[in-house]
Amino acid sequence: MSFQEISVLQSFLNRGYSRRDFLKFCSYMAGALALPKSSAAWIEKALTAPKRTPVVWLELQDCAGCSEAFLRSSNPTAAEVVLDVLSVDYHETIMAAAGKQAEEAKAATIAAGGYILVVEGSISLGNDGVYCCIGGRSSEDLIREAAANAVAVVAVGNCATFGGIPKARPNPTEAIGVMDLITDKPVLNIPGCPMNPVNLTATVVHFLTFGALPEMDQLHRPLFAFGQLIHNNCERRGHFDAGEFVRAWGDAGHRAGWCLYQMGCKGPISYHNCPIVRYNDGTNWPIGAGHPCIGCSEPDFWDQDTYYPITLQEHLPANTYPAVGEVKGTVTPEGAAVTAGAVGVVAGAALAFGYTVMTGRAKGITPEANEEEPSEEGHEHHP
Ligand code: SF4
Repeated sequence: MSFQEISVLQSFLNRGYSRRDFLKFCSYMAGALALPKSSAAWIEKALTAPKRTPVVWLELQDCAGCSEAFLRSSNPTAAEVVLDVLSVDYHETIMAAAGKQAEEAKAATIAAGGYILVVEGSISLGNDGVYCCIGGRSSEDLIREAAANAVAVVAVGNCATFGGIPKARPNPTEAIGVMDLITDKPVLNIPGCPMNPVNLTATVVHFLTFGALPEMDQLHRPLFAFGQLIHNNCERRGHFDAGEFVRAWGDAGHRAGWCLYQMGCKGPISYHNCPIVRYNDGTNWPIGAGHPCIGCSEPDFWDQDTYYPITLQEHLPANTYPAVGEVKGTVTPEGAAVTAGAVGVVAGAALAFGYTVMTGRAKGITPEANEEEPSEEGHEHHP
C-alpha cells in the first residue's frame, strides 16, 4: 500500500499498535468531539478508508509553541497518526526540504488544491508587512495565496486566531488574526497558548469523518472544545462555591488547592476544554499546577491585566449565582465576583462536600488547613 493510500487504521498497525488501540482512539475522538458513543462507529469507518488529505502549515508571527505542542504528543492518539494520514506537504519548521525545494512543494500543493491550510502565528500588516517576511514575501501575501485553493483554513494558537501576544498593546507590527483577513473561506479557530493538539486532531478527524468542519461559535471556535466555561469544569470549583480562595502565592489555601479567582484567574470568562482534556497527554493543566487561568483562548488575553489580583467586596443575593452549564457569553468578570460573595455557607459547604466525594481531588482540604485568618473578603461574606 502506498503512502498516498494509507488509512489511520493502517497507520496504527504499521506502528505496532493493535486494532483494539485503534478502536479506543475512535471512542476517544468521539468523546473529544462531544458526540454520542455510537458515533465511534462512523469515525471507525471513515478512518479505515484509505485517504490522504494534504496540509500546508504556514508559520507566521509566533513562537512555534503550537508546532511544539503538536509534535510533542507522545502517543498515537494525536499528532503522529494525523501526520501520517494528512501528509503535511509544507511546514517550514519540520519539513526536511528547504529553500527552493520547499517552496516548490508548497506551490505544487497549492496548484493541486483540496488541502487544509493550517496557520500558526499572526499576520503583520505594519509597514507593508516588513516585520514578518518569508522568502522575501510578506505574511499577508503568503496567506492570501495559500488560502486561495484551500478547502478549509484552520488557525491554531491565539496568535493566528485573535492576533495573540504580537497584537498586545501597542501592537507595533499591526498584527491581526486569520479570520480578520480571510473572509471568503471557512476559517476555524483553535485558540490557546499553545493550542491543545487534541483539539486539532479531533477537528481533523471530524473533517475526515463528516467532510466538514465542526460546529462553531461566533468566534469560529469549535463548540466541542470551546462550548463551556473553564470555570464550569474546574477541579477547584467547589472551593469557589464555598468561598475558599488563595489570597497570596504559597499561602495555606494555595498549597491546599483552593480557588485562584482572587489571584486573577480568568476561568469564569474563558471558554476551553482545558480542565477535561488537559495538556501533555492529559498530565496536567495550568490551574491543576497552581497557576490561574490567563484566558489564552479568548481575544486580547494579554491585555486583560492577567496577573492583577481581584478583590471580592460585593455581597448580593444568591439568585445571581451562575449555574453550572451557564449558556455561553452570559458570565462577566463582575458576575463571577458577585458569585464569589453571594453563595451561602451551607450551600457552599454542601457543594464543596459533594465535589469532594465525586472527584476525590479535594481530599484532606479543610478550612483548618488554611493557616491564615480569613479576611473580610471571601467565605465570611455570605448572606
Ligand atoms: S475561578 Fe479559576 S480556579 Fe477558581 S474555580 Fe473558577 S476556573 Fe477554577
